Amino acid sequence: MTHPGYRGRFAPSPTGPLHFGSLVAALASFLEARVRQGTWLVRIEDLDPLREPPGATDAILHSLSAHGLHSDEPVRYQSLRHDAYDSVIRQLLAQGRAYYCACSRKRLQANGGYHPDRCRQGEAPETGQPRAIRFALEDADVEWQDQLLGPQHQSVRGELDDPVIRRKEGFYAYQLAVVVDDIDQGIDHVVRGSDLLDMTAQQLQLFAALGAEPPGWLHIPVIVNAQGQKLSKQNRAPALDDSQPGLNLWRALAALGQNPPRELITASPPALLAWGIEHYQRALLPRQSRPPAEPGD
Ligand code: GLU
Repeated sequence: MTHPGYRGRFAPSPTGPLHFGSLVAALASFLEARVRQGTWLVRIEDLDPLREPPGATDAILHSLSAHGLHSDEPVRYQSLRHDAYDSVIRQLLAQGRAYYCACSRKRLQANGGYHPDRCRQGEAPETGQPRAIRFALEDADVEWQDQLLGPQHQSVRGELDDPVIRRKEGFYAYQLAVVVDDIDQGIDHVVRGSDLLDMTAQQLQLFAALGAEPPGWLHIPVIVNAQGQKLSKQNRAPALDDSQPGLNLWRALAALGQNPPRELITASPPALLAWGIEHYQRALLPRQSRPPAEPGD
C-alpha cells in the first residue's frame, strides 16, 4: 500500500537521553512512513528548559543518527516556534476557546475542579499575578479510531479537564505545541507510544478549533520493565548504548513483533532497517505492553 503524501514524525521531549522504549516508538513511526514511501521527520519538543538537562537534545540526535534514523527534512525545534504558538493562542482567545486563569491546582481541587473565579467566563479579576492560559474544551464523548488499537472512546469534560496551553511561567504546553506543529508540518499520521493515548481526544478538539483535519493515529503499547512499569526517564530507564546500534535495532524490531532473524543480530543499522522496511507487518505489532525480549529468548 503506497501513500506518497504520507508525513509522519518522531517528536521526543529532550528530558533525557533516548532509552529503549523511545527507540521502539521512533522505529515504529519510521517503518510506518517508509513502507508507504512517506516522509519521516524528527521534531525536538524542547518546550520546558527547566526539565531539559544540558546536552539531552544533542544526545538524542546522536543516538538517532547512530541507529540510522535520519530526518528527511531539517530537524524542527519547538524552542524556536514561540511566535507561532503565541499567534495560535491569540486566535483561540479571540474565538473564546482559551482563557486566562490564575487558579492553583489546590484551589481548583477545593472547588470540585471548577474555576471559582469564573475565569472560563473571562470574569476573573486581573490581580497582576502571573496567569496561565487554558484551552476551553467542549463536553463531548469523543470517538476515534486507532489504527492499531481499534475504536477508542474518551469523554472530555469542559472546564474540569481544560488543559493549560501556556503556563504561568510563560512556557508553552505540549498539548498546544504538538497540535500546532503537526498542522504546520502537514503531519497526517501520528505513530507514538500508548502513554499518549489519553491526550488524543483533547488534541482532536484542538485540531477542530483550529479548523484542521486531524491526522490518523497509531499508538504503540509502551515497553515496560520486568516490574511492569513503563520504561521512562522517571523510572531511570538506562540510556541507549549507541555503541551497539545493530543489537538495539534488532531488539526494537523484536519488540514490535516483527520477528527479525537471529543472524541479523550482528547486522549493521542500514541492513536492519532495510530488513525492517521489507518485512514490516502492522498486523504483527503487539497490542499490549510487555517487557522487551532478549535475543536468547
Ligand atoms: N514529545 C512527546 C513526548 O516525548 C511526544 C509527542 C507526540 O508524539 O505526540 O512524550
